[in-house]
Amino acid sequence: MICPHCDHKFSLSWGKYLSAPFGPHACPSCEQRIKTVVSVSSCLLLGAIAILAGGTPAVIAFFLTHNFWYTIAAYALFAVGVVVPVDRYLTNTKRPVKPVE
Ligand SMILES: [Zn+2]
Repeated sequence: MICPHCDHKFSLSWGKYLSAPFGPHACPSCEQRIKTVVSVSSCLLLGAIAILAGGTPAVIAFFLTHNFWYTIAAYALFAVGVVVPVDRYLTNTKRPVKPVE
């Protein structure tokens, strides 16, 4: 991401991303608060990825165990395990950044 205040280019570390996944974040150069703009299409993309990434393991878990909770656990584990890194990638590279008022 590029800071709108000082044009400093940086990436959020895992620690900084996980401490505030919805922002705002502080620029490491000027320490001004900034926030990424999340578009509707980005949310739809993440939802589709969650369905695809979690759906297949959930179906496999259901047929192997016939247990509702194992199915839900497999879905949640794989959906979150794929969506969180994709969301961090989008935050660091694709999403526009605006200053926090
Ligand atoms: Zn800055």
